[in-house]
Formats: sequence, C-alpha cells, structure tokens
Amino acid sequence: MNRPTLPWLKCCVATALACACAMAWAAGKAHEHGALRLDVAIEGNKLTIAMEAPLDNLLGFERAPRTDAERKAAAEVLARLRSPAQGRPLFATDVAAQCTLSKAEVLSPVLEPAARADARTAAGTQAATGANKEEHADLEASYEFSCAQPGELRSLDVGLFDAYKRMQRIDVQVAGPKGQSKVTLRRPARSVKLAR
Ligand SMILES: [Zn+2]
Repeated sequence: MNRPTLPWLKCCVATALACACAMAWAAGKAHEHGALRLDVAIEGNKLTIAMEAPLDNLLGFERAPRTDAERKAAAEVLARLRSPAQGRPLFATDVAAQCTLSKAEVLSPVLEPAARADARTAAGTQAATGANKEEHADLEASYEFSCAQPGELRSLDVGLFDAYKRMQRIDVQVAGPKGQSKVTLRRPARSVKLAR
C-alpha cells in the first residue's frame, strides 16, 4: 500500500530542489552558498588574491547586522579578513618565496554602508551592485603579497575552511607567467599548486 508514495515523494523532492536551484541561479548568478571564488595571479614579484564570497559563508546572514551579537560577529569577520596573516594565516605561501602582505582590501557594502561611497570609487560599479541585491550579498576581498623570491612560489595554502565552517568548496583560478590553471578545493583540501 505504501509503495506508490515513495517514488512520488522522490519526484517531489527532486522537483523542489531543481526549483530552488533555478531560483538561486536567477537571483545571484554565481552566488552559491557554501562556495566561493579565488582568483590568484602571479606577476613579477607580486602575488595577488581576489576573493568573492557570499556573505552567508562568512557570517551566516546576508544583511546589515541587527543585534549586538550580529554586529560583533560582522566586525570580527571584517577584522579577520583585513588581517589575513594574523593567527592561523588565511593564505600562506612557500617560506622560500619570502612573501609579505603588502595590501589587504575588504569590501562589504551591506556590512559597512558608510564605506559604500569609498568602495564605489575604489572598485568601480561592482561594490555598488553588491549593495543593491535584496536577498543576497557578497563580500569582496583582495590581497597583494610582495615576494622577494617569486621563482620559489610553488603552492598556496588556503586556511579558509578552518576559519569559516560554512564553506564547502573553493573554486580557484591561477594565472601565472606560464599560463592558467583551475582547481576546486573541497574540505579538507587546502593546497593550491601555483602555475609557474
Ligand atoms: Zn546568498
């Protein structure tokens, strides 16, 4: 008697999932909770990392904080990302490459509405569009490392999974003097080979 309900249920769940996926896709294009994007580039003695992450991955919500606890959490996320080398580094390169962080920029118009005007001039229209999304919001961060021995750059250790429990997947694109490569990190993987 119960048999026919099972396939029906299965079908229903599949349809609901497909629908939810389609809606998420329509709402935010590449915005997918649990996933983020890293663009890594090596040029001369500079290693740059550009990160684009749904705010949900870092904070668990994608709107301006409403309570003291949320404000504290948001401030901690911003402070952590602005000091990526403090404590357990979010990004670490080969010691032999002798890289030091020379720039760290974090843009989150939803968390820092006052900084929106500055962000707009700093990052063109991208920052502004991030603030206009009603249901989803991204955080953008960019880092620049100066490396005394860039020829020694072999791998990038990514500590984001340790720092942010909601992250499940990191799509990494690497561009170096010898070409481009793509890799997807899934928990607990953390090492990205750098194209040289
Ligand atoms: Zn979202």
